[in-house]
Amino acid sequence: MTHGTDVVVVGAGVSGLTCAVRLAEAGLRVLVRSADSPLTTTSCAAGAIWGPHLVAHDRAESWALASLGVFRELAADPVATGVRMTWGVEAGQDVPRPGPGAEGVRLCAAVELPPGYTSGWEYRVPLIDMTRYLDYLTYRLLNKNGEIQISRVDDLPALGPLVVNCTGLGARELVPGDPIRPVRGDLLVLDNPGIDTFFVEHDEDDGDGLTTYVLPQGDRVMLGGSRFAGEWSDEDPQIRQDILDRCARAEPLLAGSRVREHRVGLRPVRDRVRIGPDDRYPHVIHNYGHGGGGVTLSWGCADEVLALTGAGAHTTRRG
Ligand SMILES: Cc1cc2nc3c(=O)[nH]c(=O)nc-3n(C[C@H](O)[C@H](O)[C@H](O)COP(=O)(O)OP(=O)(O)OC[C@H]3O[C@@H](n4cnc5c(N)ncnc54)[C@H](O)[C@@H]3O)c2cc1C
Repeated sequence: MTHGTDVVVVGAGVSGLTCAVRLAEAGLRVLVRSADSPLTTTSCAAGAIWGPHLVAHDRAESWALASLGVFRELAADPVATGVRMTWGVEAGQDVPRPGPGAEGVRLCAAVELPPGYTSGWEYRVPLIDMTRYLDYLTYRLLNKNGEIQISRVDDLPALGPLVVNCTGLGARELVPGDPIRPVRGDLLVLDNPGIDTFFVEHDEDDGDGLTTYVLPQGDRVMLGGSRFAGEWSDEDPQIRQDILDRCARAEPLLAGSRVREHRVGLRPVRDRVRIGPDDRYPHVIHNYGHGGGGVTLSWGCADEVLALTGAGAHTTRRG
């Protein structure tokens, strides 16, 4: 532990940075240790749209709603934060009405939907440009005298009197025997031909396969997606072409847009998000395994971590 640090947060993805900001703004002196810089984490590969997906916990909805409140505030300054309240359509066959949190929900008429879809809802939720957003969180942390060190950690309990573990899939090495597992996701970044609403295909299946979503982010548009259990992280030209074809069927404006990037990320999927003190080392608080919803749950989980630390009980608060 660096002299003058109250808490070490391990991980600089969305979970780690959000916890670090919450803790620093509560008056703790925070050091973030991370093997990767924020912009090379899985978090940076996300689309990212608010809505829990491939994530399991009985409190997931309340964490998502807590985050939604924060994202709505951040959307007041989209240029600084990368968060933008965005209208769009979720479509499929017999799509259930969206749950709490979606704003302005309206049932779409069949003629408003792309070919092949028979039911859909229009609503508004936050879309988050992760490159900009992770930069914004970093700035907010540094502004509260938090520190970020890019260095790998091998032993969590040894890091100090208070440690928060936000290592996503990295928990496999740090918490031996943990059931966390990777689920691959592909995302293509294209020049935006003028799309300003999102499209997501309703998808209740958790098995392997492709789905379709189109998320506008200013002059870029994010196309997805895929879900394949396993470690395989190379770019696959067939997956790329399939995603392009599916998205262009849903949004014909995309045909011919230049592909800028093909991102592959491994979602940290677990039977249940792990949040709480370690059984053996209670000074280590875990916060990992957010699957396909880590951005969506981030502020709710950070509030939970803050409460678990007793904010200040272990520490010398800055005056
Ligand atoms: C293609 C794709 C699309 C997605 N879309 C969405 C979406 O629309 N909405 C949504 O809410 N979520 C989405 N997700 C899911 C979301 O990205 C993840 O749930 C989230 O990024 C998990 O964040 P994290 O901070 O827990 O983990 P990560 O972002 O993986 O960060 C883990 C951190 O821990 C560090 N670390 C690991 N091991 C060690 C170690 N031994 N020592 C030091 N540091 C270590 C890493 O360097 C990294 O900084 C998507 C994911 C993918 C792949």
